[in-house]
Amino acid sequence: MNILILGSGGREHTFAHQLAKSKQCKNLYVAPGNAGTAQIAENISLDPTNFDAVKQLVLEKDIEMLVVGPEQPLVDGITDFFKEDEKLSHIKVIGPGKRGALLEGSKERAKEFMAMHKIPTAAYESFTEKSLEAGKKFLETLKSPYVLKADGLAGGKGVLILKDLAEAQQELENMLSGKFGAASKTVVIEEFLDGIELSVFVLTDGENYKILPTAKDYKRIGEGDTGLNTGGMGAISPVPFADAVFMEKVKKRIVQPTVKGLQKEEIDYKGFIFIGLIMVNQEPYVIEYNVRMGDPETEVVLPRIKTDLVEILEKTATGSLKQINLEIIKEAAATVMTVSAGYPEAYDKNKEITGLDKIEDAIVFHAGTKQENGKILTNGGRVLAVTAFGKDYQEALKKAYQNVEKIHFDKLYYRKDLGKDLV
Ligand code: ATP
Repeated sequence: MNILILGSGGREHTFAHQLAKSKQCKNLYVAPGNAGTAQIAENISLDPTNFDAVKQLVLEKDIEMLVVGPEQPLVDGITDFFKEDEKLSHIKVIGPGKRGALLEGSKERAKEFMAMHKIPTAAYESFTEKSLEAGKKFLETLKSPYVLKADGLAGGKGVLILKDLAEAQQELENMLSGKFGAASKTVVIEEFLDGIELSVFVLTDGENYKILPTAKDYKRIGEGDTGLNTGGMGAISPVPFADAVFMEKVKKRIVQPTVKGLQKEEIDYKGFIFIGLIMVNQEPYVIEYNVRMGDPETEVVLPRIKTDLVEILEKTATGSLKQINLEIIKEAAATVMTVSAGYPEAYDKNKEITGLDKIEDAIVFHAGTKQENGKILTNGGRVLAVTAFGKDYQEALKKAYQNVEKIHFDKLYYRKDLGKDLV
């Protein structure tokens, strides 16, 4: 099968790595890809939100399966675009159509979906410019801290958590008057939940589902989970505190009603559901839905899946996921993200990366990298994710760190405290 992956991060390199292992994978393309994907697939320079360009490539390369990495093409409707075009409708697209993608594209819609299908989540109300005063009054009824969320996609920056009521009221006004552009024309205000976060990944063909390994990521740039939010500084899988009793609650109260809810609403959903959860007094609540895999969680989740990924995705696209017997390796996985200092604010690019030939017993997934004149250079804030395995997350992290130390580029930074919050 000829397969095209859209995206350019560590997530997409991990997909490429897993898909390339399959005997069923004939030609593998990544658009636009990075220096890591170039080693195992053919990179094609293209903007994944330019559907006409994707179409041209798919026809030219006789692509049979399209794996959509990031959310933007899904929210923009790439799956519907394929379904509605008679030359493309036979292609197996992994990722929901526009209606399904709204679970990530609109936080108001996600909250309505959860309310409708009785899925546990924080209490909320949503407001627009017209209801600003009501929003300010609603904030007065809540306890500090206050959680304000821009309804639309805001590059992971659209959530503000504020201690002071007056500041929260002011920020509500700022958001509604365009702080995050069109994304904050509607703002969801919700109750603050105090607990520990984790992610559960589900793959569904619209009817059947498989729960994939759990993961916990580390979002903040600084040690002790301080400083600015990032795309993610590392992750571990499985999550040690997500025991069988907790996961049974997640399955019954969250995964099943989510998949059933999609069916009830006649949303044809073939793809990944990334459920951001928070555990409060041993009970799971949904913080958010994403309609694709997470990055860097993919770098620890997919490598733990032993079953042929092409086969899993093929069965997903054809509605026969039931036939898959998902085999998960028992070992834990950990990934450590190396970044260019300055990230998530300004940082340098084009720094040479060395030491990759010294890696032992670990996998390096490239994120912001590119190849030029035989050299591998930094090309983004998050540069390389180093994944290793072990009998538990501590051992996996130890091995990942040992390998990170062999990698060099100017102003390399990584968090040295991953997993310390769990002991
Ligand atoms: P991401 O960057 O993961 O895509 P996002 O911008 O889509 O995030 P959310 O995941 O909804 O937004 O929120 C971002 C973070 O804010 C969460 O990971 C969580 O730490 C915190 N958060 C969101 N909602 C709540 C809540 N109700 N109570 C406590 N913390 C919350």
